Amino acid sequence: MRSRGKLIIIVAPSGSGKGTLVDHVKQTFAGEIVFPISCTTRTMRPGEREGDVYNFVSRAEFEKRIEEGYFLEWAEYSGNLYGTPREDIMRHIESGDLVLREVEIQGAYSIKRLMDPEDLAVIYIDAGSWEDLRRRIEERAPLSPVELALRHERFLKEIEFKPEATYIVSNKDGELEQAKEHIIDIIKQLQ
Ligand code: 5GP
Repeated sequence: MRSRGKLIIIVAPSGSGKGTLVDHVKQTFAGEIVFPISCTTRTMRPGEREGDVYNFVSRAEFEKRIEEGYFLEWAEYSGNLYGTPREDIMRHIESGDLVLREVEIQGAYSIKRLMDPEDLAVIYIDAGSWEDLRRRIEERAPLSPVELALRHERFLKEIEFKPEATYIVSNKDGELEQAKEHIIDIIKQLQ
């Protein structure tokens, strides 16, 4: 293994099964790879805990951290701010660790621009066409036409990012078990 570590980012359209795959990766590699905590201004959802996946902060606190250069990248998504802490991630890469974080596409573009490509691997989860995703999204919770149109617009931007990825994991209907194996294999190769 090379002496420097790497940041692995996971990017995927909403409804692609990203959460399930990320949870599987966390269970498989618990204690072996680093899962940095991001900051967000969104409210905590039931079952979430402060400091687990996110530090939940006020918009004022988040803006203060932007000013201080605390973030490697930050982005606004659905009206909330999200940011990855620079120091934490860079320190782990320098000490040879693999660091894995899921981000939305603006953050992914920023990270690609800012980081040495040798220090980075980008995994994109491909869950098929808009029609497939729309069905999955609507199975979870019905959306208003306005919300659906927004999701569709976002989806078009998300698939544009696909050619930027180092690895593509296919997670179309019925492929979850293969997708889990594929993502685990990719990370093992990077270790
Ligand atoms: P959620 O609110 O559902 O946890 O996350 C919403 C979106 O924000 C997801 O696409 C997730 O990948 C993304 N996200 C989570 N943390 C970060 C971060 O630190 N930076 C960026 N740019 N996006 C993030």
